[in-house]
Amino acid sequence: MCICINCQYVDRCMTYHAVEHQHQQSHLTDAPDFDPQEPTINVNIRSRDEVIEMEWDVVGCQSFLQEVGRWARLRPGEPLPT
Ligand code: SF4
Repeated sequence: MCICINCQYVDRCMTYHAVEHQHQQSHLTDAPDFDPQEPTINVNIRSRDEVIEMEWDVVGCQSFLQEVGRWARLRPGEPLPT
């Protein structure tokens, strides 16, 4: 699970914007203006039948600023991104 969902910058962050793109999720913002310091992205590659799936998760970041439940507050009622 991506640490970004509990980060205060999630709706401004350029890296999270790229992760949303990789997951084909709708964006929290179309114009991210925050460039995080040293995010570490874990990429899992799985093949299921003929399909290859890639899952991108930010697992570390110097700019992480905890705000538990920020993503969920911005998208009430939606399932958390995996
Ligand atoms: S943890 Fe880092 S990469 Fe993720 S939203 Fe926060 S600042 Fe951006």
